[in-house]
Amino acid sequence: MPNTLQLSDRPRILVVGGGYVGLYVAMKLQKKVKDRGGIVTVVDPLPYMTYQPFLPEVAAGQIEARHAVVSHRMHLKHAELITGRVTAIDHANRKAVVQPTEGDPVELEYRDVVVAAGAITRTFPIPGLAEAGIGLKTIEEAVALRNQILERIETASMLTDPALRQRALTFTVVGGGFAGIETITEIEDMARAAAKKNGRIGASELRFVLIEAMGRIMPEVTAEQAEWVVGHMRSRGIEVLLNTSLAKAEGGRLELINMADKSPAGEFESDVLIWTAGVMANPMVRSTDFPIEERGRVRTGTDLRIVGEDGPIEGAWAAGDVSAVPDLTGGLPDGTCVPNAQHAVRQAKRLAKNLYAVRYGVGQVKEYKHKNLGAVAGFGAWKGVAKIMGIKLKGAPAWLAHRGYHGMAMPTFERKFRVVSGWFWSLFFNRDTTQISDLQNPRRQFVEAATPKPKPAQKPVEQPAADPAGTRTPEEAAPSK
Ligand SMILES: Cc1cc2nc3c(=O)[nH]c(=O)nc-3n(C[C@H](O)[C@H](O)[C@H](O)COP(=O)(O)OP(=O)(O)OC[C@H]3O[C@@H](n4cnc5c(N)ncnc54)[C@H](O)[C@@H]3O)c2cc1C
Repeated sequence: MPNTLQLSDRPRILVVGGGYVGLYVAMKLQKKVKDRGGIVTVVDPLPYMTYQPFLPEVAAGQIEARHAVVSHRMHLKHAELITGRVTAIDHANRKAVVQPTEGDPVELEYRDVVVAAGAITRTFPIPGLAEAGIGLKTIEEAVALRNQILERIETASMLTDPALRQRALTFTVVGGGFAGIETITEIEDMARAAAKKNGRIGASELRFVLIEAMGRIMPEVTAEQAEWVVGHMRSRGIEVLLNTSLAKAEGGRLELINMADKSPAGEFESDVLIWTAGVMANPMVRSTDFPIEERGRVRTGTDLRIVGEDGPIEGAWAAGDVSAVPDLTGGLPDGTCVPNAQHAVRQAKRLAKNLYAVRYGVGQVKEYKHKNLGAVAGFGAWKGVAKIMGIKLKGAPAWLAHRGYHGMAMPTFERKFRVVSGWFWSLFFNRDTTQISDLQNPRRQFVEAATPKPKPAQKPVEQPAADPAGTRTPEEAAPSK
């Protein structure tokens, strides 16, 4: 076995992050670059790209977890894959430091770098949040959340203390963006289906609370649609608390404040607390020699090259949630693209073409320009809202549009097929509410079996009573059992 890490010595295009942007850039370039003597290297701590828009459906058991991720090894066969985290980039010397899951850091030399490390969950210093909450940014969180909800329902059905039962059956989501609304509506659907099968839980015992700091939800749709969504959620029994923020989450007790005057806005107990209140650019970019703008992103030009104070930086590219890309069609108030998958995929495809054109002189460098197509959201089976190229949809048509769009947008034919066939079969077998027990502690049973147990204390053997006359048989003389 080699005792040094085997790395390609070809001129390298280093892709930092194998999510939306990284996967698409690598898929577009891997073969072409290899044919020209170079290599595309993807570094990511995860061996897969996560299709994040499916996370609420994974959390609600509508999509199998493995189907919502795209394996790097299966789809990037011509690229060099490194499982690890880029911890620093020294672009002046064209070097990056990678920290593998285990072992010493590795220094990687490169010719071009694509910064595609995405975003991380943004939280605030709320007492108890880190201990009690869970985000929804990774497939692992979605799987754990589904199991936690189903486990709480099962546990509650065996509790007789009304306060403990209520706490176990209260599900809270903080954040009224797309992710938060899709999450609370999907889990409401699943929890009701699970409770119905249980028989010891009444429908009125389930409580769902959405907490949003702003005066409205879902900035991606019109105000009128957002109001419709609030009405729709309330009609399903979901409490929607606007202009409200989470102040404390200690010991399962949630304390709320009113955002207008910072006065107390009530408190309640909840075992399940899901945080979807925003994301921020991956802070790893602060460990690079690229200039960072005020929101912590690397700034690019319209061609997706990173720009410094003196203009575009040779050999440095970025796209997706980690970057501030000018939106030539409008975008955020600062004129940059909204951080979403729609932009990430299209930026990745443009970036791949531009990088190839600059590096190999084939093709043309063009500006990134994409007019937002709208938004689709699913709220559980046959429910949703959508605005597609100005056309507004609600209910079943919106839900079908949501499934149609995401079914098509899922990368690679193989994954599309798995997701869509899963949806097809669930039309016949309904939602799967099976809880995988012991997910957090899978070794429990084995540890119990493998732990030596103290031997039971041996009973002293009773001596048969004396039979001096020798008139009894041996069986008669033995003690009865
Ligand atoms: C619950 C949820 C629902 C969403 N729904 C929608 C939707 O319906 N429509 C929509 O348009 N958008 C949606 N989005 C947003 C969309 O998923 C993101 O905008 C998109 O994933 C951004 O792509 P990206 O490549 O920039 O980042 P990501 O896809 O997040 O990829 C970043 C990658 O970088 C890796 N990485 C992180 N740190 C390092 C490091 N130090 N070194 C190397 N690699 C690193 C990560 O492991 C990850 O694989 C949703 C997001 C969430 C969380």
